[in-house]
Amino acid sequence: MKACVINDSGVLETVQRPEPRAARDVVKVQILIAPMCTEFKELRAGKAQEVLGHEAAGVVVDAAGSERVREGDRVVVMPGNACGVCGMCVAGEHIYCANQRHVLAETASDFGLATYAEYIVKPDRLLFRIPPDVSMLHASLACCGLGPSLNALGRMRARAGDTLLVSGCGPVGLGAVVNAVARSLRVIALEPTPYRADLARRLGAGEVLDPRSTDVDEEVRLLTGGRGADCAIETSGVRDAAGRLAALLRPLGRMALLAWDVPVELPPLVPLGIEVDGCWHWNHERDGRVMWETIRGSESALTEMVTHLFTLEDAGMAMTLQETGNCGKVVLCPDGPASLTDVLEH
Ligand SMILES: [Zn+2]
Ligand SMILES: [Zn+2]
Repeated sequence: MKACVINDSGVLETVQRPEPRAARDVVKVQILIAPMCTEFKELRAGKAQEVLGHEAAGVVVDAAGSERVREGDRVVVMPGNACGVCGMCVAGEHIYCANQRHVLAETASDFGLATYAEYIVKPDRLLFRIPPDVSMLHASLACCGLGPSLNALGRMRARAGDTLLVSGCGPVGLGAVVNAVARSLRVIALEPTPYRADLARRLGAGEVLDPRSTDVDEEVRLLTGGRGADCAIETSGVRDAAGRLAALLRPLGRMALLAWDVPVELPPLVPLGIEVDGCWHWNHERDGRVMWETIRGSESALTEMVTHLFTLEDAGMAMTLQETGNCGKVVLCPDGPASLTDVLEH
């Protein structure tokens, strides 16, 4: 099968790798959509990577001994290979599982952990069945596109009518806009890139401000009647963003941090009464119904949010595009261009 790797010279290339095998509850999935996340930063760093990508949607082609899925099932593939039995896994919080399974050894496979590939193997518990009326493309956003912000809005107990600040309108921030609009929140987004600011507006953000402008804090205060926003989601990863957001919240406001690996500097929280959540992924066992409702109610926004589709062979071009910021969510179609129409319709 085809797969993308970053070779020893730091170059992205499409290579041939053996297809993985299914065994017991570890199922083989043909990947039809592989949404691209932050892998372009790994290419930028030039470090060799044999496993690229952690988001996918596709079709079960070998269910082995699974009692949860069958061949032909359309599924979203969750990241990692959580054990399925620890307290975190039982609670559906598999992303925090400290006992990752070695599924290649379990299935005697040489390759099969990457989503930038035609096939992957996955414990069946980490496959999320797609309802028949939801397209594969929209379903694929039930990973990093919509997952972290869906989790964040739940953790922040956001309600219809609340004003939400979304800091950064990359794919995760755009997903936050979609989730918020689906819940009838009012969105004020902060985004410097004109392309993304425009896209955020088309997805339903009421206001999009340039965070580099000196009077942005004043504008947010005016837009919230001097009160401050009810809640905020920080996705930009800009160093002082979390601190600035905290200052733009009303007393007892709530904030969720979704950017990775960013040291956070916050003002004293006690006098503000602010709650802060770190939100990584989402809990598909608990929140699956809300996710499908959101996707069903946001079809045109989600079609707009996925701005580019590429084949595996063109993943390098896709990453160059991601570096420009002139894109929303970018996805790969490992099955090739022939399946593109199919993916959009089913
Ligand atoms: Zn991701
Ligand atoms: Zn576990």
